[in-house]
Amino acid sequence: VAALVIYNWQAACVVFVVLGGFYGAVHTLFQHRLSALGRMRWDANERRYRLVSEALGGLKEVRLFGRERWYAGEFSRESDTVARASGRSYLYGISPRYLLESLAFTLLVGVVLAVLMQGRPLTEILPLLGLYAVAGVRLMPALQICYQYLSTIRTNTVAVYGLATLFEETGANTRSLELPDDRGTVQRLSSEISVGDVWFTYPGTERPVLTGVSLRIPARSCVGITGPSGSGKTTLMDILLGLIDPDSGSLAVDGKRLDESSRCAWQRNLGFVPQQIYLVDGTVAENIAFGIPPDRVDPAAIERAARMASLHDFIESLSQGYSTGVGERGIRLSGGQRQRLAIARALYHDPDVLFFDEATSALDAETENAIVESIQSLAHKKTIVIIAHRLSTLRYCDKVITLDSGVVTRTGAFHELKT
Ligand code: ADP
Repeated sequence: VAALVIYNWQAACVVFVVLGGFYGAVHTLFQHRLSALGRMRWDANERRYRLVSEALGGLKEVRLFGRERWYAGEFSRESDTVARASGRSYLYGISPRYLLESLAFTLLVGVVLAVLMQGRPLTEILPLLGLYAVAGVRLMPALQICYQYLSTIRTNTVAVYGLATLFEETGANTRSLELPDDRGTVQRLSSEISVGDVWFTYPGTERPVLTGVSLRIPARSCVGITGPSGSGKTTLMDILLGLIDPDSGSLAVDGKRLDESSRCAWQRNLGFVPQQIYLVDGTVAENIAFGIPPDRVDPAAIERAARMASLHDFIESLSQGYSTGVGERGIRLSGGQRQRLAIARALYHDPDVLFFDEATSALDAETENAIVESIQSLAHKKTIVIIAHRLSTLRYCDKVITLDSGVVTRTGAFHELKT
């Protein structure tokens, strides 16, 4: 740049105006198209991921109903759109370079021809032409890079704003990145868990799911929560687990209100058995000591948990005992064995409180009975909270709470509820 300006500043100005103008015009011309391509790619990518998760999540139904072709076709269509949008935005980014190169060389040849036709000696303009040729070789790629990055930014702005909106909606940008350690203090339960006048509405919805729920769960008792589907049972359990905060009202453990600082200590004292356990493609032992680094796994705790979940004898009967692989997603285990494994996992760190969320509802009556008996064997050793649709699951509970549309409609012993 300095050499051009020193040699002939007027000509240098003309070059900058021409080059800058060219890229400016191209950018103005392409910017809306680039944004549209970015949006197209974002939307198609979203649909593509949704299709994959739907197809793999419901693989059995997909295969059974012969929907593979449809899913594969849709996936292929969306992938094509993503590829086309990516290709085009890249093309918009690089094409001005070739256009400009052709123009510049045409101009150079044109100037040489004009000088020759005028019968002037070429040596007159050769130094200037040489300087511009060298400057062009150095300057054009630099300008091209600036333009290309600008067009990449333009295409990806859609994704950046899309993610920023998601972060804002979920509050992820304000949350601390510090992740809790699983080895801190544990808040033990000695007298009771109490929930006082809890109200909760899911973000983005109008109707409250829990409307003034109050209940008490004495330590080492077994409490059942029942009620129609959608009555707020899972939401109430999530509040008890400290996974969501009530909008108003309180959750207290031994009379002490649970807050941000005591939440992790409370969660370390909880075991949770979901309706469907997530199994990793590893050994039985790895699945019981889920998410614990191999050097910290305690084999004695695994065996104790398996015995408490009435799973030890079955594991011993396997060819490699605790080192037997369960297969992808526990494919080699029956539904009942999987739920026992879930109970063993919940018991691994010897928590005081165990939560069961519809843990037996997917099982046949006989298996469910066997599991309920196993849960019963834990009664009065642990505090147990069971959500169940079927009343028979709650037959050993000391107290059964009925929820309806977010309100506790009945609290009583199991035999009182049946009447
Ligand atoms: P239950 O466990 O008794 O079937 P839930 O606690 O799962 O009931 O749900 C209670 C109500 O809250 C339902 O109407 C459900 O649609 C709504 N709900 C549950 N989870 C969410 C969520 N993440 N966002 C919005 N609404 C939800």
